[in-house]
This record gives sequence, structure tokens and C-alpha cells, in this order.
Amino acid sequence: MRNYLASFIGILLFIHTSYSQVPTKNSSSDIYHAIQKLNFLGSALYIAAHPDDENTRLISYLSNEVKARTAYLSLTRGDGGQNLIGPELRELLGVLRTQELLAARRVDGGQQFFSRAVDFGYSKHPNETLKIWNKDSVLSDVVRMIRKFKPDVIINRFDHRSPGTTHGHHTSSAMLSFEAFDLASDPTSYPNQLNDLKIWQPKRLFFNTSWWFYGSEEKFKAADKSNMLSFDIGVYYPMLGVSNNEIASLASSQHRCQGFGRLMTRGTQNEYIELLKGNMPADKNNVFDGIDTTWSRVEGGEAIGTILNEIEKNYNFKNPSAHIKELVKAYQLLQEIPDTYWKEIKSEELKDIITAISGLYLEASSKDAMAIPGSTAQINIEVVNRSSSDIKLKSVVIGDLVSEDKDINLTDNDKQEFKVQLNIPDDISYTSPYWLSKKGTLGMYTVEDPDLIGNPETPPAFHAVFNLEIEGYPIAIDKPVIHRYSKPDHGELYHPFDILPVATASFQDKVMIFADGKSKKVPVSIKAHRDNIKGEIELCYSKGWIVDKESKPFEIKNKGDEQIVVFELTPPESEDESYISPIIKVDGKELSKELVTIAYDHIPTQSVLLPSEAKVVRLNIQKVGEHIGYIVGAGDDVPKSLEQIGYQVHTIDPNSINAETLSKYGAIVVGIRAYNVVPELKFKQKYLFDYVKKGGNLILQYNTAGRWDKQYEDIAPFPLKLSRERVTDEESEVEIIGKDHELVNYPNKITNEDFKGWVQERGLYFPSEWDSKFTPILSMHDEGETAKEGSLLIAPYGKGNYIYTGLSFFRELPAGVPGAYKLFANMLSVGKSDVKQKTPIKG
Ligand SMILES: [Zn+2]
Repeated sequence: MRNYLASFIGILLFIHTSYSQVPTKNSSSDIYHAIQKLNFLGSALYIAAHPDDENTRLISYLSNEVKARTAYLSLTRGDGGQNLIGPELRELLGVLRTQELLAARRVDGGQQFFSRAVDFGYSKHPNETLKIWNKDSVLSDVVRMIRKFKPDVIINRFDHRSPGTTHGHHTSSAMLSFEAFDLASDPTSYPNQLNDLKIWQPKRLFFNTSWWFYGSEEKFKAADKSNMLSFDIGVYYPMLGVSNNEIASLASSQHRCQGFGRLMTRGTQNEYIELLKGNMPADKNNVFDGIDTTWSRVEGGEAIGTILNEIEKNYNFKNPSAHIKELVKAYQLLQEIPDTYWKEIKSEELKDIITAISGLYLEASSKDAMAIPGSTAQINIEVVNRSSSDIKLKSVVIGDLVSEDKDINLTDNDKQEFKVQLNIPDDISYTSPYWLSKKGTLGMYTVEDPDLIGNPETPPAFHAVFNLEIEGYPIAIDKPVIHRYSKPDHGELYHPFDILPVATASFQDKVMIFADGKSKKVPVSIKAHRDNIKGEIELCYSKGWIVDKESKPFEIKNKGDEQIVVFELTPPESEDESYISPIIKVDGKELSKELVTIAYDHIPTQSVLLPSEAKVVRLNIQKVGEHIGYIVGAGDDVPKSLEQIGYQVHTIDPNSINAETLSKYGAIVVGIRAYNVVPELKFKQKYLFDYVKKGGNLILQYNTAGRWDKQYEDIAPFPLKLSRERVTDEESEVEIIGKDHELVNYPNKITNEDFKGWVQERGLYFPSEWDSKFTPILSMHDEGETAKEGSLLIAPYGKGNYIYTGLSFFRELPAGVPGAYKLFANMLSVGKSDVKQKTPIKG
């Protein structure tokens, strides 16, 4: 873990309302930038569907050039995508991408919000999206965020008028924003929200258009732009030593799990937004034109504005703390204004500025990264004023748990340090992403506390409030309690201070397939989060399954250590699918959570607690052959899954492919997108085809169409054309059109039952045209579309079989879908009815 601040020191912008653990280090020009922002009272909200949809150039421009409060509302957390940097998928990927968005906002100066919508995977049309999402709930979240953030302008990334031309989530985000723009000011819409929030009417709604919505740069050049605003988002900020588009590149490069690291761009660049609602500004380069964004916007604000504008005008770069008295005066006046909304926002900004100009360092840190409920933590308090400002520390308070009265004059650079004891309550909640604490649906997260809706992350377990007297005026400054430590090879590091259960447990395999009646060993790993724990562990399982012992003892000496306890599980005679989960009994409590830690350089380490469980599947499956060769593509868990049903899977190095190496295997499987990512394969096609000719089965899983090297046109021994056809509805009806083909009859009889319980989708990038030697086996389609027959194609070639399939086995097998296993076993076994059980293997 490198200090995740290090990579963007130098252009780190002013931070507030972020739970980042790392203290900000502000230069005099950073402070000046913050004062300029302090004097701008206007807000802009950017709305799209996923992490990475947001236009960081525009967000940074609004935040740093216009100086507006700027936020990105991403309807989802990006759970449905792929991960290029680690194993996190689904909800865990959502946690990682949430943090990547926060990292991007730390760079471009925006804030980040989310709705409760789940990124459930690719969706062709907003009709499908809004059905799975529960449209009303997501719309209510968008309305809520408008009422909470009170934007003057809203900018949509996508066009609400073009359903079906892009991901259904994209169009949905624009459609919901278009509707919410009016609903937010209607007291009859979502009236429950009005217990805590007020109605709000934004002034203008825009669509952030670009040439790619027009098909080409030429078409966009020629388009009528009378309804558009434009600005140069390549502007250079001498105060920050960086240009807007450089900040934007750095911000979007935080989306590392999506491979968004990119080169910096520089120079003039025009950005366009099209007006959808509200009046057209007279100044077509200014989104806020005609909207009062000065201090006179708020009642009693003028006097504050006079002081602060004076500071901005005569800012003392050499000694910013010279402004302390005026800033405290402005803070004092601000406390008296009736408008609670701006009071809160500007008070936080002012406190950050007052802290920064005084070089005031306030920290509450624990030497431990975590604690358990009912324990005691030593919190180290560090306070130092590095200016001649008159500052007194009156007390440090942590909730109602710590209240340490002091009366210390903080003289210039005289560090104060002391410890307080924090007794952690027994009933405190554990640290974990709030949206994962209750089971959700396919399309929506369950969040019971409406105050949390929209928040990017769970608030820190504890805040320390430093009650100060600055220039004679009481000011309270809030800091999260953090864990600070150092590593010899890294230097200083920060980590959230987490509350975790005494022990957590996890299964090594999340899906276990029992392909015969034999029992299997089930290792459970128990992790201690306190020294000296001792207890028992039990397994919960369904009727028909048998466990060797109801309960087993464990004992762990040191906090952080793990112990593995092995159960033996015997499946029932007949087919069955169910879940097992562990129960740890310790200190008279029953615990059943699994801890997943997500740690990368560019984000704060995340602790995620999930219900600990594993899926167990009793499958009556027949197969022929034992040794499978696997050519790895972009990476999938198919080999591990095939091992679960008794195959021995051997990874084949693409460089080593020749007639001899291939002959050892009964079947060769090519991993997903192999022809897209393994350049060596283009020289190896003839060996693979010869292998089939001599009697082997070659199975290709999906490759993406369109990113082709010419030589890959012979991906099959007969003409085969890949397309972008896909079937995204995992429950769509499947018709077996090759009913009599061996592939659906041997050794397992495949029926419609086998297409039940599939996850996320049926498949993708199906071939759309093929030679008559191919037999299409299945037909399927999404609602309202024509039948697609290219999901599973087989052609005899010589003595063997060539199979191409876009079915999503890489998702279905790791999810333990029985029908997918049977169909895969048939692909490996087809044409081998005369082969005896084992294929010999050497070496
Ligand atoms: Zn997207």
C-alpha cells in the first residue's frame, strides 16, 4: 500500500465533505483558490449512470474555473462491469468503483453522490432498465438529491431522446433527470422527503452533447448550435500550475479497475451543452448567466461578501494567516444568517480555510486499524497551530464517549499531544458499506435510513470535535478518527479506523459442485479480530445434506491470525441446490459474517462485511474424458469450475502450441476474448484445426467482434462471422432447435429446465452468419427482438468437432448454474461416445 495521496500531490485541490483519511496539505495558492470558491454561491449537478460516464473535463471546469459547487450523481456504483486490477466483482466491484469515483473527485474538486440503483449488467433499452430498477425508487432518489444539493443547473451526460442507441442505464439516467427537474419543486411528489428537505426548482437543464452523439465530427460541425452553450475546457490555471484538461485526465485515470489510465491532454478544447429546460443565457459561455451567485444571494450575505471579497482582492500570498481576523469575523456573521443551507456549506468551507491559513493541524488517530465493540481504544490527539493566530484549544469531544476539557493557548508551532481513552459501545454498528448491510433485489439496494440515501460511503465510525477559540470566537472543527502508521518501505500511511466483529469466517470456495454422491472437504477459515479467542464453529445446511460433525472447536491466539477448520459434507442422492453458512460461537455471541478487505494504492482500504455463505450443488452429471487443455484469454474461472466436476484442466501456454502438445487432451477450451488479447494465437490456428481434424474437440468461448486482426478472420475452419448480437435477459426463453443433435443428448439430456437460474445474461457477441457445415443448436432473443441462433454452433471437421459459443459460461459456471455445467460437459464429450473413460496423458 503506497500512500494514495502521493500520486496527486501538487494538484490536490481543496477538500471538504470528503471522508478521505489523508490530511490535506494546502499551499498559499490552494488557499487562494478556496477563497475564490468561497465567494461563488452557485451549484451544478452532473447526472449519468456509471462510474466513468462522467465528463471530468466539465466537472473540473465547473469546479475550478467557474468555482461552482459541483457534484456528480452516478445512478449506479458500476457493480456489473469487469475488473482489470483484481478479483472484486459485483457488489465488491461496486465498492471499489465507489472509491475510484471519490478519488477522481478529490482530483477534480467535485462531490460524489449515488442512487440506490444496482448496475445489474448490460441493458439494451431503458424500458428494461426501469423495470429492473424500480423506476419510482430511482426517480425518488434523483428528486431527493436535487432537493438536498439544490443545483442551479443540471447537466445530463446522455440524451433522454434516444432510447435504444446506448446502454439502457445511460438513457434512463437522462430520462429520470429530465422528469426530476420538474418534480423536485412539486410538493405533491415524494412528500415524505419534505419532512427533512425543502422543494427546489433548478433553473436550467442541459445535455452534455458531443460529436459522438452526431456520428462524426463533420456532422457535429455542421449541426445547428443556436441552442447550445460552449466553453474552453482546456483553460490553464496558473494558480494551480496545471490546466483543466490535465486535471480531468488525472481524475479519470483514477478509474483504474476499468483501465481508464490515460495520457494528459492539453490545449484549447471546446465543450458543448445543449439547453433542454429553462431560459437560454444571454452569455452563451456561462451556464450561470443571470443567476445571482454572489453573497447577496442570501439574506444577510452582503456584509459577509464585503469582507470576503476584500480578502480575495488583497490576498496576502506570503502570509495568508494575516487574514485570520477578517475570516473569523465573516464566520461570525455567517452564523447569524437565517438561511441554514448556505450557512452550513459556507461554514464548512470557511473552517477549512481558517484551518489552512493557520497551518492548524488537528488529528485524532489510533495505532490500531480496527477495534471490536465493547473494547477500549487509545486515541492520540495531536494539535499544533503554525501561525501567530490567537487560537485556544478548549476541549476534544468524541460523540458522548469522550469529553476532554482543556484550556491550552496554542502558540506558534508548539505541538500539543495527549491521549484519550475511547470506550467503544457494545451495540455499535460494524464498519461496512451501508448499502450492502441488507439484502437488496436484482435492481435496487436496500437502504433503510433515508438520510444515507445518496451518500457515497458509510460515515466514519467516530469523529473527534476540536472545540477551539479562534481570535476570541468559538469554532468547532470536526475530524474523523483515523488509523495512522508507517511502513519502512512506504513512509506514513492512513487507514480508516474500523469497527469489526470479534471473528469472521469465510469459505475458500464460494460454489461447490458435487458431481457424484461422494463427500467433499469444506475448509472454513476463521479470522480473529482480537487476541485470545476460543469457541465453536457450526455449519448451517439444508435437509438432505450431511455434515461429519455438528460443531468443531477453534482457538486463535493473536489478533489478525486465521485458523482453518475442515468439515466433511456429503450431498443428497438426488439433484439439489442450496447454501451453507458458518456460525461462530464466541463470548456467548453468534457471528456469521465474512470480511473482505479491498486494498489498492489509489483508494483508502475498505472493509466489507458480507453474509458468509457458499452455494452447494448436487448434480447428476455425466462426462467423457478427463484431461482438458485450456488456453487462457482475458481471464475467467471456467478452469476452476471444470475441476469441480472432476476434469483435470491443464493450462496451455500459447507459445507452446504444436501438434504434439495438443494431442494429449480430449478437448481444448479457449478462454473468453482469447483472440482479442493473445497475439500468439494468430500463428497457431493450423495446429488447433489439425487437432480437431484428428478427432479432438475445440471449444471457443466468446470473442468481441470488430477488434480484429485480418488474420483472425479464419477463427473457424469454415466461414463464421461474429457480430454484436447478444441476449441480455438471463430469463429469456431458449428453444432447443437442434433437438436431435448429440450435443444436447450426450452424455446429458439437455432440456428447457437447464436454462433456468442463469445469471446476468444469456450470452454476447454471437456469430450472425455461418457456413452451412455449422449446426445451430439454440435459439433465443430478448423481448421485442428477432430470434438469435448463433449462441451455440457446432461443425464436424475431420474426425473431431469445432464449437463456437457466445453463451456466458464464464458467468454461469462460477455461479453454480447446473444446466450450464451439463451443457459444457456435453461440449467436451460430444463425438466421443466410443471413447473409453480416460484419455491418457503424458508429462
Ligand atoms: Zn456507462
